[in-house]
Amino acid sequence: MSKLCTAELFELDLETLAREAQRITRQHFGRTISLYAPLYLANYCENQCTYCGFSANLRFKREKLGPEQIETECAALAATGIQSLLLLTGESRRHTPVSYLLEAVGIAKKYFPSLSIEVQPLETEDYRALAQAGVDGLAVYQETYDKELYARLHLAGKKRDYQYRLATPARAAQAGIRNIALGVLLGLGAWRPDVEALFGHLSALEKEYPGVDFSLSFPRMLQVEGGILPTLVSDADLVRILCVARILFPRVGINLSTRESARFRDHVFSLGVTRMSAASSTIVGGYAEPTPGGKAPSTEGKNPQFSISDGRSLAEIKTMLISKQYDPVLTDWRRI
Ligand code: SF4
Repeated sequence: MSKLCTAELFELDLETLAREAQRITRQHFGRTISLYAPLYLANYCENQCTYCGFSANLRFKREKLGPEQIETECAALAATGIQSLLLLTGESRRHTPVSYLLEAVGIAKKYFPSLSIEVQPLETEDYRALAQAGVDGLAVYQETYDKELYARLHLAGKKRDYQYRLATPARAAQAGIRNIALGVLLGLGAWRPDVEALFGHLSALEKEYPGVDFSLSFPRMLQVEGGILPTLVSDADLVRILCVARILFPRVGINLSTRESARFRDHVFSLGVTRMSAASSTIVGGYAEPTPGGKAPSTEGKNPQFSISDGRSLAEIKTMLISKQYDPVLTDWRRI
């Protein structure tokens, strides 16, 4: 099957794909799933993306965590057992400049052995400074590789520069970030050309930067107030994408977030997923106030970037994995 091209793989029946994807995943990753949580530091954004709850044209109270709040949020999240953290902001060079990110990283690294960021695309020297400060991972999604669609969806801000965003993973790799997640936002347009372009981007980066661990994410767009309607990407489509990704890239990490329902995640993770988020908050902060049973914080009355579907606690997700004979992995990385 490994000799088939991407187009031929997409035409295979789902059961054959699923069987092969699961076999390859177990061969390379065993029965393990890494768990992480996101922490939104700020929701300021200078871009206008027609599909996002943080878009600069939307009117709501913008917030940014100060050093003490970051400390409190990190302490609360670490107390739940999470050891791998993804720090997120909107994309605002004014409100969340590199100096702010460095300060946040300095605080968070006291609590978490592994730290990733999902922030505005930066210059190589900025990534180098963040890597030296303790960042080992970066998530940056092209959203869509269709340049015309990209121009129609991104109405204002630095994000309009398609090429600058496209070259971001390479700048991070040159700066020594060891783990880089790429992705497309499924539902913006036709999924197949986007996914095929993403695979091409990943192949080129793997050849150029063999020392970097790349991973893939396939978030499905959820409609936000004032945003465009998503194009349907069915559960079967997403399973097909995950399986083909695993077969084409046997060793690459694949992430699955709490955007997806608990039922869907429980059914498909074994087909190729290596990393899942747990008990996630998609509002700024959100962890310092205890929630019943450690479940994901409520977004009611707040402005989340998107709503989560799987609100289970870390303990519940660990229990689910163990019941399926999988080992939940809280960290596979320690800073020296
Ligand atoms: S997708 Fe990112 S860049 Fe676009 S509005 Fe949302 S937070 Fe800002």
